[in-house]
Amino acid sequence: MGKDSIVVIGGGHAGAQICASLAELGQGQRVHLVCEENALPYQRPPLSKAFFKKDDETVQLIRAQSWFDQQGIQVHLGDAVKSIDLTQQVVHLGSGQSVPFSKLVFATGTRSRRLPELGPELENVHLLRTAQDAQTLRSQLANTQSVTFIGGGFIGLELAATLNALGKEVTVLEVSTRLLARSISTELSAHVLTTHRAAGMDIRLQSVISGYKTQAHQLTHLALQDQELKVQRVLLGIGAQAETTLAQSIGLACDGGIVVDDQMRTSLPHVWAIGDCTVFPYGPTGAGMRLESIQNANDQAKVAAQSIMGQSVSYKPTPWFWSEQGAMRLQMVGLLPSSPKTIKRPGANEQSFSLFHYDQGRLACVESVNAVMDHMMAKKFFELGCNPSPEDVANPDLALKSLAV
Ligand SMILES: Cc1cc2nc3c(=O)[nH]c(=O)nc-3n(C[C@H](O)[C@H](O)[C@H](O)COP(=O)(O)OP(=O)(O)OC[C@H]3O[C@@H](n4cnc5c(N)ncnc54)[C@H](O)[C@@H]3O)c2cc1C
Repeated sequence: MGKDSIVVIGGGHAGAQICASLAELGQGQRVHLVCEENALPYQRPPLSKAFFKKDDETVQLIRAQSWFDQQGIQVHLGDAVKSIDLTQQVVHLGSGQSVPFSKLVFATGTRSRRLPELGPELENVHLLRTAQDAQTLRSQLANTQSVTFIGGGFIGLELAATLNALGKEVTVLEVSTRLLARSISTELSAHVLTTHRAAGMDIRLQSVISGYKTQAHQLTHLALQDQELKVQRVLLGIGAQAETTLAQSIGLACDGGIVVDDQMRTSLPHVWAIGDCTVFPYGPTGAGMRLESIQNANDQAKVAAQSIMGQSVSYKPTPWFWSEQGAMRLQMVGLLPSSPKTIKRPGANEQSFSLFHYDQGRLACVESVNAVMDHMMAKKFFELGCNPSPEDVANPDLALKSLAV
């Protein structure tokens, strides 16, 4: 294997999927997967869900080592790409090894945001992005009664609901006027808030932290508007930013993520980017969009593999996402418009329903709560390009029939 190699930087969901897609295309022998984490690619979503429910829950690998061996894919574990020589077409790894390439794929994902005041030296302040983060936090829980979440995003709320169910005292501090404000509708936000509060979680909206007290590598207090809150353990869940340091070092166009076209090609020839680290053209306007989801990572990886092989392909996603928060399974398909007309489709009980959001008469997004069949149906609507009328979706029988349109 020499200059014909395809080097994939980052062994997350996108990195694992492009290995699978290239192997399917008979290219496994050409692939080097460079994983900064000292672990084969694994499933990240369970880290904020099932992983905390049982102490013996293990990290789930996406593919076993034997699979990579069978495909002839060389995996470099616990090693990061530190620099790239574009002229020589070679990547240099932290271990000192150099790997030549003819094609290069960035699958570098995101890094959790930190607050400048809460540095890594604070032992009771945690992030949740990697298996190592999850293992560290879980190992501390036996001696922890209360956990304070800074940020009410998906990852924080999922973990908060799990820990609440395990009997921990949970406080969520959210700066916005509602939960998940950037991702879900006002109606769904209100339902999520009510459900979490009913389950006993202390959720404080419009919560501004103005000061921090620390002692001996521990965060001890947070200064809020109306009180000083004593904290025992803290999860910082204030979002993530695309990992573009290396991409910028070789002059790739970046704008909040690595800019790619609809084939996942970057601004430089022979270089692709996939997954959470990308900004891609979306919708009729082709405006730049960055998504953090398994769907996006997997689908972009499939497109990039085809593009690398010179096949004609174009990434036109129907975004979908899920989140599990206590007794709520939230599923979303499409993207929420700014001023939707919303139709509620009731389910079997108050804890089960779907919200169909229309934008100028076109179905743009469907949010489902404990309504898996609605979500499946909604995905089909998008895939087939159906536009069921608001009357149809309010009526279970008619909505199913309209699929045949
Ligand atoms: C706790 C948690 C729960 C989630 N739950 C859901 C969910 O329920 N549903 C959903 O759709 N999405 C969920 N997500 C988001 C989903 O996991 C991401 O969208 C997905 O992992 C993105 O895949 P990726 O390969 O682009 O990036 P990642 O999976 O983040 O992988 C990027 C990898 O690149 C490595 N890397 C970076 N720089 C280098 C370098 N220079 N050299 C080598 N390696 C490098 C990183 O260490 C990392 O391992 C969750 C994420 C987290 C953290």
